[in-house]
Amino acid sequence: MPPIMDKGEQLYRIDLKGLQPGKHRMEFPIETSFFAEFGENPILAADLKADVELEKTGLCMRLGLKIEGDVTVACDRCLSDLQLPVEVDETIAVTFSGASRVRDEEEERPDGDIIELERNETELDLSQVFYDYVCLSLPIQKVHEDGECDPDMMERMKEILK
Ligand SMILES: [Zn+2]
Repeated sequence: MPPIMDKGEQLYRIDLKGLQPGKHRMEFPIETSFFAEFGENPILAADLKADVELEKTGLCMRLGLKIEGDVTVACDRCLSDLQLPVEVDETIAVTFSGASRVRDEEEERPDGDIIELERNETELDLSQVFYDYVCLSLPIQKVHEDGECDPDMMERMKEILK
């Protein structure tokens, strides 16, 4: 028996068994509640849209992933809200374990990222993919432009650090 999933989780799962060969376009909203499900993470709020193109050819798939919008994180300097634009545009090869070894001998490995699923996997859960790529797209230094930090917060931080 598969675990019972609520609608929110199910939205991002693609049934691979029922997927016909060819191209499939899908759109997904990625909102604040999506990130809340992942527990502790830097994203406080999100208003994103994912545009997915899944192309199935034989045993393998190609995942075209575009994510656009913005997220809110805490500024590293003043700790108040900082809005950051997100732009992800990646092509990811999806293969199955076992299948990839044969492929290696016959073709060159595709450039870019690869997701390898278990051979008997029947679902592709895009939520982890979305989460990883959005987090990876964020800059390491998350700070407001010079002079745009919250002055009250900066004052308070100075007091604390005295
Ligand atoms: Zn700041």
